[in-house]
Amino acid sequence: MELRSALSFGQERIWLLEKLMPQRPVHNIAIAYELVGPLDRAALARAFQAVIGRHAPLRTSFHDVDGRPYAVIHDESPPVMEVMKLSSPGELAERVDAAVQDVFDISRSPLLRAILFELGPQRHALVVIVHHIVADGWSTAVLFDDLSDAYVAFRDGADWSPPALPITFARHVVRERQAAREGKWHEDLAYWRNLLQDAPPLFSLPGARPRPARPTQLAHEVVRRLDDAAALHAFAKERHVSPAMLMAAAWAATLSRHSGQSDIMLGMPVSGRDRPELNHLIGLFMNVLPLRIKVTPEWTFAELVEHIRNTMLSALAHRHLPFAALVSELGVERSLAYSPVFQVLFNHATRSPQPFADAVELECRRLPVAAKLVQTDLELAVVDAPDGATTMGLACSADIYDEHLPGLLLDHMTTLLRDGIAAPDTRVDRLRLLDEAQRSRLTALCAPPAAPIPDVGTALDLVVAQLAATPQAPAVTDRRATLTYEELGRAAAKLAQRFRAHGVGTGSVVAVHVDRSIEALVAMLASWQVGAAYLPVDPSYPRRRVEFVLRDAGASAIVSVRGATADYLDTLGVPVLLVEDVADASSGPTVGATLTGCPGSSPSDLAYLIYTSGSTGEPKGVEVPHRGVVNFLNSMAHRPGMTADDVVLALTSPSFDISVLELFLPLTVGARIVIASAEDARDPQRLTGLIEEHGVTVMQATPVTWQQVAELAPPTMRLRLALCGGEALARSLANRLGELADEVWNMYGPTETTVWSLVSRVEPAPEGTTVPIGRPIDNTSAWVLDPEGQVLPAGIAGELCIGGAGVAIGYRGRPELTDERFVAGPPETGGDRLYRTGDLVRLRGDGEFEFLGRADSQVKLRGYRIELEEVATLLRRHPRVKDAVVVVRDDGDSDPRLVAYVVPR
Ligand code: AMP
Ligand code: MG
Repeated sequence: MELRSALSFGQERIWLLEKLMPQRPVHNIAIAYELVGPLDRAALARAFQAVIGRHAPLRTSFHDVDGRPYAVIHDESPPVMEVMKLSSPGELAERVDAAVQDVFDISRSPLLRAILFELGPQRHALVVIVHHIVADGWSTAVLFDDLSDAYVAFRDGADWSPPALPITFARHVVRERQAAREGKWHEDLAYWRNLLQDAPPLFSLPGARPRPARPTQLAHEVVRRLDDAAALHAFAKERHVSPAMLMAAAWAATLSRHSGQSDIMLGMPVSGRDRPELNHLIGLFMNVLPLRIKVTPEWTFAELVEHIRNTMLSALAHRHLPFAALVSELGVERSLAYSPVFQVLFNHATRSPQPFADAVELECRRLPVAAKLVQTDLELAVVDAPDGATTMGLACSADIYDEHLPGLLLDHMTTLLRDGIAAPDTRVDRLRLLDEAQRSRLTALCAPPAAPIPDVGTALDLVVAQLAATPQAPAVTDRRATLTYEELGRAAAKLAQRFRAHGVGTGSVVAVHVDRSIEALVAMLASWQVGAAYLPVDPSYPRRRVEFVLRDAGASAIVSVRGATADYLDTLGVPVLLVEDVADASSGPTVGATLTGCPGSSPSDLAYLIYTSGSTGEPKGVEVPHRGVVNFLNSMAHRPGMTADDVVLALTSPSFDISVLELFLPLTVGARIVIASAEDARDPQRLTGLIEEHGVTVMQATPVTWQQVAELAPPTMRLRLALCGGEALARSLANRLGELADEVWNMYGPTETTVWSLVSRVEPAPEGTTVPIGRPIDNTSAWVLDPEGQVLPAGIAGELCIGGAGVAIGYRGRPELTDERFVAGPPETGGDRLYRTGDLVRLRGDGEFEFLGRADSQVKLRGYRIELEEVATLLRRHPRVKDAVVVVRDDGDSDPRLVAYVVPR
């Protein structure tokens, strides 16, 4: 005979989720044991049948008519236990995994599977999988209790006749429906409504990827044993709280520290077995209670625990309303992409199965079964085992989080809990997240051991050494000429002579008012030869800006070329030197020797001065010493790497520091530079033409330029290295570049720390995964600091601060601004001088940094670094403008644009 029954609220929700996302084992509850000792298989098989006979839910199947579900309870069940022989013990994990992933068809009972793997004559593994629609965590304990009882009875040839169950699950469903009809949950509902109004709808941690519309529900899981469970229990006892409250406090505090949020929603499963008569039933009784935890940072740990105690107790007082009913009453379920009300679970199980306790001849050990799927984003399961140990299993959604997250969170939570228990009067925001060992691991990631730096005075010395080694090799090509290393050196030496004649020497600044060309390169090298720094000035910049920069830098000579020079340059009281016919250096008498190093120069002398946007309305000059350039070039030469076989396309204007890589790195390794003119650089078609014509192997550009080149690149185009930097590299572009080049690198760095400070070799990865900015280059440290300047552990978003050989001297003539951005680091950094980048980043568990955005209003627009405040400040100075705001507007139709809004006076 078959019996029809209604579904409970909880069952209906699971049924619905199965309909919406079918064919997924997300509702499989799996438990596995290793059994050592003599096992009576026939008795075990019989025991399973007896347990199924006793518990109707295990004989229930689910169906629907007209979109409404109903359950059918069957009288009989086919035998469930399967026996499988394994050819090798190594096969077990894989087989268990496959069994656990095997989906149930809920329209066919039994919704329980049991597989006995034979590992040897006295060795077995037993895996039991039951569908959540008919069972919960508590049920698994009941199941194994009954199974063990029945087994022992049958093994001894006896009968198994346990006392009859006081109530059926079907009866429970009837009561639940009755309670709903009679409005018994009114008060609960009012309580939850009130609690959840204006609750944060969605929780996510920094670095979370966008949610797919249909989650895969795949998870990364880590299980850990809590070492000092005894201390936890003692503290709980002393404070009159439950261990669960302490664990929840540590969990919420960890999430708050990681997210910067103080209003945290947790879902807490509860047994739902309110009357003792339900204790021996298998079935879905559990409920989930939303906990709204306010993690006030100023609270002490003890205060947080007290808050959690109150929160949990009042939640428990309103536990009767099923969560499924609450969700439909609130009408909050709007998306399949995330679960409603909370996206984080806190599950503290106190009742766990203890199978075969009476079968003394069997030694029974629980085998870990990874939760491959999750229903929410972060699921923490704390289990108090019978032996007094506490384990924590954390499963994180693989759709939005990376695989290092669960381990990281568990590490931090454990340390925080230990700290909180040891010193409960510590403020929550001061509790440590890292112990000593973890702290030194962090230091190793942020400040890798020092690497050797070439023992030379200036970057010019590196070029001179190469010049001596390969004088006849081609060094540089532009549209008009090609120069060998020797010719390039002669041209520079010749210009250096002229500089000297004008009194330009150590400590001077030479303005290079020349566009991308061999002349520009010659002028830079000549500046270094006389001990001067070069100041790139883009001839296309407006007069006001050029005049300001020349004055502010205190330039003592201007180099220009005929045709690009401007009349007003002559009015500035600084000599203007025109460079011409550099190709002439190949013939005719050479002036003096070829290029030599500058013996008077030291590593701390300025190599260049580059102006960037300043929020006070005027650009600021970044003073970069040779020390930084030498270290940078040396580091780049082996990561990403460059050799004499490379041909490098130089397309960046010298007024951007990334041109330093394009112009000087090749010259330190014997490679050849192909200089693109300004017109070439503007036209992606011409760029691809140059690449093919000259056999270019290395190109560096911003994402905007790469995007354009990638769109036009002929299928034959193939580079060795594609270096992309200056702005966030989108995954789609990174993957596309992977088709154009053998190696793709994401390069990160502000002008203030010498071109690039972190680099990352980018491998192709699925759309939606972020492209990290990588790890520090040689002799460089990268720290994530909180607003108080304290070092943050991996996972947490903060400001990236960079130390080491690349840190610039400061802003020219701006001591206050320099002191604001170049600061002494906290103790972990050894008090190093750090540059505060203003970039929000996080360190991933694997040691790679991830760029998250800006902490201020600095933007990048088509490769230009712009302080929006610089533009606004200038506008406000206009007599007819009272106030101004500047934003980057992206209307979606065209490129993003800078838009100013003004209030007229
Ligand atoms: P600049 O001084 O012009 O090099 O600009 C430095 C700023 O550009 C950094 O502080 C970042 O905001 C941004 N930036 C540079 N490289 C990257 C990158 N690879 N990914 C994301 N942002 C970047
Ligand atoms: Mg940069």
